[in-house]
Amino acid sequence: MSVKLNSGTSMPLTGFGVWKVDRATGAETVYNAIKTGYRLFDAAQDYGNCIEIGEGINKAIADGLVKREDLFITSKLWNHYHDPEIVEKSLDRILSDMNLEYLDLFLMHFPLSFKFIPFEKKYPGQFGINGIELDNVPLIDTWKAMERIYKEGKKVKAIGVSNFNGGLLMDLLRQAEITPAVLQIEHHPYLQQKALVNYVKAKGIAITAYSSFGGQSYVELDNPAAKNSPSLLEHELITKIAKKYNKTTAQVLLRWATQREIAVIPKSNNANRLKENLEVLDFDLSEEEFSEIAELERNLRFNDPKDWDGHNICIF
Ligand code: NAD
Repeated sequence: MSVKLNSGTSMPLTGFGVWKVDRATGAETVYNAIKTGYRLFDAAQDYGNCIEIGEGINKAIADGLVKREDLFITSKLWNHYHDPEIVEKSLDRILSDMNLEYLDLFLMHFPLSFKFIPFEKKYPGQFGINGIELDNVPLIDTWKAMERIYKEGKKVKAIGVSNFNGGLLMDLLRQAEITPAVLQIEHHPYLQQKALVNYVKAKGIAITAYSSFGGQSYVELDNPAAKNSPSLLEHELITKIAKKYNKTTAQVLLRWATQREIAVIPKSNNANRLKENLEVLDFDLSEEEFSEIAELERNLRFNDPKDWDGHNICIF
């Protein structure tokens, strides 16, 4: 199942995110995910594994598992590359690292610009979160550079943004020529972002949810909010619903999004979970269950740039 984008192309509702996918096993992980049935891969310059992810994709194509046009590949412009002069060079680097001719979706990763550091000096994967120096490139300038690439019609099939709140998105829409095709945001029952979701849908922008399992991914990063909040995967309500449908709690959390046409991109290295996370379109939660889950809202954000590098970068 897929969602139609305002660019005219379609984006699968279920995909695989490659944040923290190990470089040593990245190619194999992606190859196996394609074998399991994944067609959408959510990558980013910042994840430092573009080369390996590209290797997995290209091997699957070479082996005849899929054709390039069967896949939907997303990648994201990192914060150091917001300068309009750098945006296309940055995309070119992504494409050459991944050995791809085009991306299906090119996202601005964060509404944050950092001072440019030449690729040869330091490149994502080598940054860590230290040494961030803020820059002041207006978001619309970066967006206009993305629009130009999109309009040329060769290197990207759609453009979008990630981690924008309502105000920033509204401001971008006032000035943009091309409406973003997708907004990618943190979205789970502890952070439902209802007003933003409604606004974005009304504007014909598709949504991709990340961190669908809440804090799960952030526990290993020592994130205090993640360590101190009860896991959604073990939550009493989610467990009760899962039992009713003979599904896992992970599948309920993914269905909670996909049933509202919000795409999901969970990550797993485990073969069973990989399969399980794809099987989330064959049951429907009831209205009552949606209302019960709505009560879990805590406005609890796990991925917040204010936690980076002690710089007090606060954008939300
Ligand atoms: P996630 O919600 O997918 O959680 C991943 C964690 O859940 C891992 O620890 C994994 O082992 C575990 N898991 C996976 N499937 C499971 C299952 N069926 N049962 C139990 N546990 C399971 O969260 P995430 O890694 O935060 O996000 C997924 C993807 O979203 C990333 O890989 C990345 O592509 C994207 N992302 C984007 C941004 C952004 O700023 N745009 C930020 C974070 C993540």
